[in-house]
Amino acid sequence: MKLKNLCALALSCGLGMLGFAAPAHADKAHPLIGFSIDDMRLERWARDRDFFNAAATKLGAKVLVQSANGSEERQVAQIENMISRGVDVLVIVPQNSKVLGNVIAEAHRNGVKVLSYDRLILDADIDAYISFDNLKVGQMQAQGLVDVKPKGNYFLLGGAPTDNNAKVLRQGQMQVLKPLIDKGDIKVVGDQWVPDWSPAKALSIIEDALTANANRIDAVVASNDAIAGGAVQALAAQRLAGKVAVSGQDADLAGVKRVVAGTQTMTVYKPLDQLATQAAGLAVGLATGKTPVYNAHYENGKKSVNTILLQPIDLTRAKVDKVISDGFYTHQQVYGN
Ligand code: BGC
Repeated sequence: MKLKNLCALALSCGLGMLGFAAPAHADKAHPLIGFSIDDMRLERWARDRDFFNAAATKLGAKVLVQSANGSEERQVAQIENMISRGVDVLVIVPQNSKVLGNVIAEAHRNGVKVLSYDRLILDADIDAYISFDNLKVGQMQAQGLVDVKPKGNYFLLGGAPTDNNAKVLRQGQMQVLKPLIDKGDIKVVGDQWVPDWSPAKALSIIEDALTANANRIDAVVASNDAIAGGAVQALAAQRLAGKVAVSGQDADLAGVKRVVAGTQTMTVYKPLDQLATQAAGLAVGLATGKTPVYNAHYENGKKSVNTILLQPIDLTRAKVDKVISDGFYTHQQVYGN
């Protein structure tokens, strides 16, 4: 029998003084979900939270949400706090994919299930993972650039080195670029990871890259819209915005506007309502002992993790209105001032 059930049993039998923590888990029809988000100050994660809350509430669950504001220590402390408040399931967007093993073991000791959300938690015994197909996102990013710049100097601007997605994206990008590099059509003139996916750090990396290459850069393979924004700012200062191809991801409003303006070649739209809604269903399923339907498996260094992967959509200027027809943004948001 699981410790959680034992705890519940111990309490209901009046044996609450057994000496182990007996958290006040919610009843099964109304599970309590702890949603721990790396950094809600970023546009996309605030949207994830809203979609997730709405879907989980509809399913009868209650949600506690906390943002670690980019600090791995704060995230561990917040997760510990959620465990002690008796959550049934933890849904985690990890800040650092490699440091949560201990706190997740603690969750399991307390009968709490763990769902890794969007970013895979490594080296830990998690119960499930849900994300978009990040390999495909990376392929789309590189293909979007190759379509407009089949030859030339490419700069690889990767995401946060602490985020497993950044590495998967790079793998996808290289699947498209490698044959062209081998052929000699594409030359990689630089390759850097951007700590914390920070636009300011991306800006200074691309400023330096432009200087080092006497402005001869034809494409920047930016792994999301936040760092694409930094790159485009550096390009604009050299009057190169719109001339150098730049990729992105998230369909952030600023990213979509740059695609419309022609300063960013493409973004990748990931319908976050699908991710959040399925994640809420999965979290409630884990809490209530239902067996969810998975469509993939990921090795996380500890185990082969049951996974649900969703499909991303690439958006160039020609296709960008999809975010409006889908209701992700209004026409006014995209085309207004
Ligand atoms: C997510 C991206 C996001 C990035 C920065 C990645 O793990 O998949 O959608 O832009 O983190 O928050």
